[in-house]
Amino acid sequence: MPSWSVGNLTVHRIDETELPPETGPWLLPAATPEVVDRHAWLKPDFATEDGILRLASHSFVVVSDGRRIVIDTGIGNRKERANPAWHNLRTGYHDRLVDVGVEPGTVDLVLLTHLHTDHVGWNTHEVNGEWVPLFTNARYATSKLEREYWAAQDMDEPRLQMFRDSVHPVENAGLLDLVDVAADGVEVADGVRLIPTPGHTPGHVAVELTSAGETALITGDCVHHPVQIADPEVTSCVDVDPAQARATRHTLLQSLAGTDTLVLGTHFPPPTAGRIVHEPDGVHLAFQPGWPCRSTSSRKAGTAHQPAWRGAWAVLSRGEHCGRWRSAARAGQGRRRGGRRRCPLSPRTVHEHSLPRPAGRSAAAGVDRWERLQRPARFRGDGRAAHCRPVRRQRGRSSTVSPAQQRGRGLPSAVRFGHGVGR
Ligand SMILES: [Zn+2]
Repeated sequence: MPSWSVGNLTVHRIDETELPPETGPWLLPAATPEVVDRHAWLKPDFATEDGILRLASHSFVVVSDGRRIVIDTGIGNRKERANPAWHNLRTGYHDRLVDVGVEPGTVDLVLLTHLHTDHVGWNTHEVNGEWVPLFTNARYATSKLEREYWAAQDMDEPRLQMFRDSVHPVENAGLLDLVDVAADGVEVADGVRLIPTPGHTPGHVAVELTSAGETALITGDCVHHPVQIADPEVTSCVDVDPAQARATRHTLLQSLAGTDTLVLGTHFPPPTAGRIVHEPDGVHLAFQPGWPCRSTSSRKAGTAHQPAWRGAWAVLSRGEHCGRWRSAARAGQGRRRGGRRRCPLSPRTVHEHSLPRPAGRSAAAGVDRWERLQRPARFRGDGRAAHCRPVRRQRGRSSTVSPAQQRGRGLPSAVRFGHGVGR
């Protein structure tokens, strides 16, 4: 399985399945072959020569200091689903997870960008005819707004079935944490931050990873396919609020374009990840030269001349910084790193000021406030709570909370890995 480095973090992609060719025209009906033709860079990796979108289902696993975080859990095996492409799958997802050294029982945290069928499937697996949590020692977390939205819906039978087999077992085991995601995001583990990206669903979050000066963003479904990088107006038929989804995409992509942030798409087929760059013919996802993909040109541009990913990237991104960077650099705020200037306005800073606040959230909603749908009977007995001091951050201010306070507030000891560093 491919993996990427983000500072000291390693991100593995755990493949579940390619999605069938009917998926694109159904999911993104505005992305017709004519639209795809306007963006030649999408072929052959992200679209067929006939202009049919390629899409995939996979998870990402972030590994750092022996800690494991799974981000989204795909469709799942043996699940009864209305969508024939998702019904009763028998994929090797579990084996592929183990192949990268991640036994499900060793996972610390499972982050769910939203509660759709293709993002919660491996939350559970079937044991003796019952659906039970797969990641038995993990905390699961999703946005509180997301859970509340679905709780208020009059759901049809297929969605009820999904909740019964993939969400309720985790809740009933006391493993699900509901995170109050502030407008500027919330840190749920060292260097791991949930960023509100509403529209596809009201409580949808993207996941930002930061380590040693490097940043990556896992999209979830706020961007289903790279065609939406080229044309953020392309919406999905399953967006709850298409106008909000468009606004989120525009804002997010503007904040990322020309930066060094690595963007990893939850449904992007290989090569899956890249930087967002301005080219004369529009905005592209520029992936790692030499990365396994269908593009002959990319392979040529890869290892022969640019063996190092970052070195290769420096060539690609030269002069591609955003307007914000240029104005900040002129003002003398630019800083040197590794011999070249980096954008002084991190994506996080941009998010703080420009991402729309999800509908229905009051301005007074608590920042960093965690709540549980069901408080577990006890915390993990592995002693971790005694060592972990959660980090709390709010727009530059930070404080730490003792394990005792943490328990008193119902904060999940296994979720927050901070070590008391106010970062
Ligand atoms: Zn999805």
